[in-house]
Amino acid sequence: MEPEYNGLEVADRSRRLLDGLLEILESIDDGQARLDRITDRITTILETDVCSVYLLRTADSLELCATQGLNPQAVHVTRMQMGEGLVGRVAQELIPINTANAPTEPGFRYMPETGEEMYASFLGVPILQRGTPLGVLVVQSKESRRFSEAETQILKVVASALADMTELGKFVSDQYAISAPHTRPAQFQGSIGQEGIAEGQVLLHESRVVVANPITDDPEKEILRLSKALEKLRGQVDEMTATSTLNATDEQRAIIETYRMFANSRGWVQRMEANIRSGLSAEASVEKEQSDTRTRMSRAEPYLRDRLHDLDDLSIRLLRLLTGQARLDRQKIPRNPILVARQIGTGELIEYGAKLKAVVLEEGSVGSHAAIIARANAIPLLVHTEGILSEALNGDPILVDGDSGTAYLRPSKKIAVTVRNKIAQRKQLELRYQGLRDLPAISRDGVTISLNINAGLLPHLPNFARSGADGVGLFRTELKFLATNRMPRREELVQYYRLVLDSAKGCPVCFRTLDIGSDKLLRYMKRDEEPNPAMGWRAIRVGLDRPYVLKMQLQALVRAANGRPLSVMFPLVAETSEFEQARTIFLDVIRNETARNRAISSDLKIGAMLETPSLAFAPDRFFQQVDYLSIGGNDLQQFFFAADRQNELVRRRYGTLNISYLRFVRFIVERCAKFDVMLSYCGEAAGRPLEAVCLAAIGLRQLSMRASSVGSTKHLIRHSDLSAVRAAIEAAETDGTEDLRTRLASEIGVEHILTP
Ligand code: PEP
Ligand code: MG
Repeated sequence: MEPEYNGLEVADRSRRLLDGLLEILESIDDGQARLDRITDRITTILETDVCSVYLLRTADSLELCATQGLNPQAVHVTRMQMGEGLVGRVAQELIPINTANAPTEPGFRYMPETGEEMYASFLGVPILQRGTPLGVLVVQSKESRRFSEAETQILKVVASALADMTELGKFVSDQYAISAPHTRPAQFQGSIGQEGIAEGQVLLHESRVVVANPITDDPEKEILRLSKALEKLRGQVDEMTATSTLNATDEQRAIIETYRMFANSRGWVQRMEANIRSGLSAEASVEKEQSDTRTRMSRAEPYLRDRLHDLDDLSIRLLRLLTGQARLDRQKIPRNPILVARQIGTGELIEYGAKLKAVVLEEGSVGSHAAIIARANAIPLLVHTEGILSEALNGDPILVDGDSGTAYLRPSKKIAVTVRNKIAQRKQLELRYQGLRDLPAISRDGVTISLNINAGLLPHLPNFARSGADGVGLFRTELKFLATNRMPRREELVQYYRLVLDSAKGCPVCFRTLDIGSDKLLRYMKRDEEPNPAMGWRAIRVGLDRPYVLKMQLQALVRAANGRPLSVMFPLVAETSEFEQARTIFLDVIRNETARNRAISSDLKIGAMLETPSLAFAPDRFFQQVDYLSIGGNDLQQFFFAADRQNELVRRRYGTLNISYLRFVRFIVERCAKFDVMLSYCGEAAGRPLEAVCLAAIGLRQLSMRASSVGSTKHLIRHSDLSAVRAAIEAAETDGTEDLRTRLASEIGVEHILTP
C-alpha cells in the first residue's frame, strides 16, 4: 500500500534537499560538477538507487546530462526524442510517470548503454519553467515499488528549482558543451503576414521575468514577501474591476473575473505557501504553481483552457511585483527593434510607431488589423510562430524572412550571410522599381491604371511620395482613434487631416470614416460582447447609431479641407438606406459649415465601400447617388466565401483568383460602368501583382494598395497584355477552371512576377 501523503514530511525533506542544492550551487562553479553533485544528493535524501537529469538539447531532443546510479559512460551519449521512451513521454505530456515496473509501462524503451535494466521502479517528473519543458528529473530503484505521493511532491519541488537554475545557466559547462540557455541559434516557422526581410534585435512586448534566487533558507521571510506582493496584486485587480464596469467588453470582464478568482483563491495562495515551506523562494513558488496549474488545466474543459493565458498573465504580474522587473523598459528599446509577442492589439502596435523593423507573433492572424498596420508600415510580419517566446531574449539578434515565414533567432554566420544576400537582392529590385516611379502604370495594350496607396497615419504619407502612386485611395481614419487613450477632439482631428492633405500635395486622398468594431476596438468606448464581431456592430453601423462621432469627424474633414477637394467614403455599407442616412448627415454638416461661412470645396465626393455582396445588388437608386465605390476586398471576400479573414484554418482556402469571385467583381464593374460610378479596389489583393493585373483585366481602373507594392504591381502591369489576360479568364469560364493562378502566371510570364 502507498504510504499516506504527509505535507510536513514533504516540506522537511525537500527543504533539506534544497539546502544541499544551495550549498552545491555556491561552492562549485562548473555546471557539470554541480549536476553530478545534485544527482548524488537526491539519491541520498530520497534513498533511491538512481537519480538522473535529462535536459532538452534541441527543441525536440533530450540528453542524459548527469546520473548517479546509471552507467556514467552514458552521460552525454544517451539521447531521446520528445515522446520517446518514458523520459520522452514525461517531457512531452508534462506529467509525472510513476511505475513499479518500468518495462511494462507503455512507451518504455530500453537503453542498453545506461545499464538501467536492473531498476524496476521509475519516477520521472518534468523540469518545467512556467509550463515550458526544459528537461526531466528521474529517480529509479531496484525494488519494485510505486514511489509515494510525498516523494513525487519532493521531486517536483526540486525539479522546479532545477528549472530556474537551468534558466540561469547554472549547469553551463565548457567541458561537456552544455551551453548557456538562450545562446544557441534557433529557428522558428510562422505563417506569412507580410513579406519582406528584416534584420534587427528582439524587443519583447512583455520582457521575461528572470528569477535569480529559486531557493530560500528563510521561508517565513519569503511568505511575507509573497503576501505583500499578493496584496498589491489584489489592489491592481480591484482597480481593473472598477474601470471595467465603465468600458470593458464582456471578454475583458471575463479576464478580470479570472484574475479576481485567482487573486482571492485561498487554494492558490496556500499552494504557493506550501511551495515556499518546501524550500522554494517566493518567485520560484509562483512559477511552480503556474506550471502545476497549467498542467492541470491543459487537460480540463476547453473553456477552462481558454483561461490559461489569464492565469499566465496574472502569475507574471505577481512575479513582476516580487522582482520589481518592468514589462517594458522604454529606455532599453534596441536599435532596429523587431517586436516579438504572443499577440498584439492594433492600438498597442500603433503606439510603437514606425520604429519597428518587423513583428513576430506566437498567435495573431494575417487578416487582423494589427497585420494591416504592419503592412502599411511595410514591415515583415510573421504570425503563429510557435515557441519563439520561450527562447527569445530582449536584444537577441534576429533575422526575419517574411518570404519564407522563418524567424532566425541568434542566427549562425552562414544563415546571416544567406539572408543578408537576400536583403541586398531586394534592395536591387527596389532600385529597379524606383526607376519606374515616374512612369505610368500602362499595360502593353495601352490601358492606364491608376495606382494609389492605402494609408492611415501621418508617417505613411512619405511612403506615398516615394512610391510614385497617384494618390491615397484609402485613408483608414480609425488608426488615429486607435492610437490614443481617449476620443480625439475635433480640433485635433482638423489639424491631423490638414497635415494629411498638406502631405499629399494636391494628390487625391480618399478618407474613410471611422471603421471600428470587429478587431478594432477603442479602449475608451463601451461596447457589448458580440458572438461574431466581424459580422456585428461595426463601421457605418456604429456611425449611424452614434451620429455624434460621425458628425464630428465629418466636420473636422470639411474644416481641414478648407475649400480643397474632399473625398469621403463610408465603410461596410450593406444597403442603400445606410448610405442615404450617412450622406444626409454629411450634407447637414456641409449646410451648417456653409452657414458659418466656412469654405466648402466645389469638388466634394461622397462614396461608399463595397464590402458586403448585398451592396452589389442594391437598387439602381444607390448607384445614382453614390459618387464612387471602393471594393474592400478583404471584407468582401470573407463574406463572399463565408471564410473569416482572421481564421488561419480557413482564410487561405479561397482567393481573389477564384473564378466565381472574379465574375462577381466583374458584375460590380459592369454596374458601376452603367451608372458612371468611379470604382476602385482597395483590399490587400490590389497590391499583389498577379491579382492586380487580373482585376485590371476585368475592368478596374483604380487600385489602392500598401505603398511597398506599387513598384512590383506597376512593373507587372507594364509587362501585361490585359486583353490576353481577359481572354484567359474567359477561357477558364468556359472550361470550368476554378483557380486561375497557374493559368494566368503562364499567360503573363512568371519571370515578370517579382515581389520585392
Ligand atoms: C477591406 O475590407 O478590404 C478594407 C480595405 O478595409 P479593412 O481591411 O480596413 O477592413
Ligand atoms: Mg473592410
